[in-house]
Amino acid sequence: MTPADLEFDQRHIWHPYTSMTHPLPCYPVESAQGVELQLADGRQLIDGMSSWWAAIHGYNHPVLNQAAIEQIGKMSHVMFGGITHPSAVALSRRLVEMTPAGLECVFLADSGSVAVEVALKMAMQYWQARGEKRQTLLTLRNGYHGDTFGAMSVCDPQNSMHSLYQGYLPQHLFADAPQSRFGEAWNEQDIAPFAALLEQHQDSIAAVILEPVVQGAGGMRIYHPTYLKRVRELCDHYGVLLIADEIATGFGRTGKPFACDHAGISPDIMCLGKALTGGYMTLSATLTTRHVAEVISDGEAGCFMHGPTFMGNPLACAVANASLSLLAENNWQEQVAGIERQLQSELTPLAAHSAVADVRVLGAIGVVEMREPVNMAALQKHFVSQGVWIRPFGKLIYLMPPYVISPAQLSQLTGAIASALESLY
Ligand SMILES: *Cc1c(COP(=O)(O)O)cnc(C)c1O
Repeated sequence: MTPADLEFDQRHIWHPYTSMTHPLPCYPVESAQGVELQLADGRQLIDGMSSWWAAIHGYNHPVLNQAAIEQIGKMSHVMFGGITHPSAVALSRRLVEMTPAGLECVFLADSGSVAVEVALKMAMQYWQARGEKRQTLLTLRNGYHGDTFGAMSVCDPQNSMHSLYQGYLPQHLFADAPQSRFGEAWNEQDIAPFAALLEQHQDSIAAVILEPVVQGAGGMRIYHPTYLKRVRELCDHYGVLLIADEIATGFGRTGKPFACDHAGISPDIMCLGKALTGGYMTLSATLTTRHVAEVISDGEAGCFMHGPTFMGNPLACAVANASLSLLAENNWQEQVAGIERQLQSELTPLAAHSAVADVRVLGAIGVVEMREPVNMAALQKHFVSQGVWIRPFGKLIYLMPPYVISPAQLSQLTGAIASALESLY
């Protein structure tokens, strides 16, 4: 990339959550291989982000490449209306098998946010078909569910600046975020605010939506699985649907196949995305029970009212299939458990630093929460100088490396965080 390319980028291209007038520096990446990103100037960076939870097997993987090439040779895309194809069937079969019991009907869509929209629409249509006017959602503070309007309406109101969209966003109910931490004692009082809201609004709530066990982009909080168990019990008690947004946590990231597995529960609707294709391309899935699917289908509309142009994209499905095969073959449980042990031993000591508020680890997720919001540009520059790619946000410096990372490479990531604390604080 030439300097003119970078200038064009700055002037004309939006980047996620980045100003067009005062953009932070952008690093040009030319290629990526294994767990390393190659910058245009030839430097190699060890990837600590898995490209936002997605690239679990690393980059430029021969098996995933081959799956894409084989599928391209047959067809890259074909409409899903009135047509089906082997890659969608094989993928959906796997998803039904590996997800918690009862999730049998698969809706394939384009992105995580759309998977959440689909889940919310399923809940709305379910109650409409049953002749009940229920349109309120109950969720947790510090949640994140995507950037489209429906998804945004259940994101943390402060983090996602609901005030900016006042009058346009539907009003939903927010319970205080869980306080009992994963791996520590469970406090039964923790569920009280949620239980109170659910009881009070039981006749108007269509569904509860939450991120099981790990709240991601809304604060990287890791909470006690008993909270999730209580939520399931309360939803059953009041007859409210439970939507689990596993877009970040799915496919082994937390040490279990799905975060719901920590609590041994099945939701009524589950959203998957991010790691689904091993980070190759965008694809999401919303799974639900036979019961929910039947109620919707027997309702006034006679079907579920959603159908994206690129639904069930064969190329994405083929790569997702290959990624799930790899996951099974690679013994991810051991990979993630090894990463967890190492993150625990190398990040926990950083909690002693005066600028650090908290350190927490679950599975292949390591979080260093600072007392103050970080200087992103300065930190990122430091990380790149140390040969690693880590992108903090707010007060959070965090790692979620590809599962195939080696212990030496992981030490380079944790070491870069330690040296940032030393040299910048
Ligand atoms: C990233 C994320 C989404 C949104 O997915 P996109 O593919 O970015 O639309 C939704 N929910 C959770 C929990 C996520 O982490």
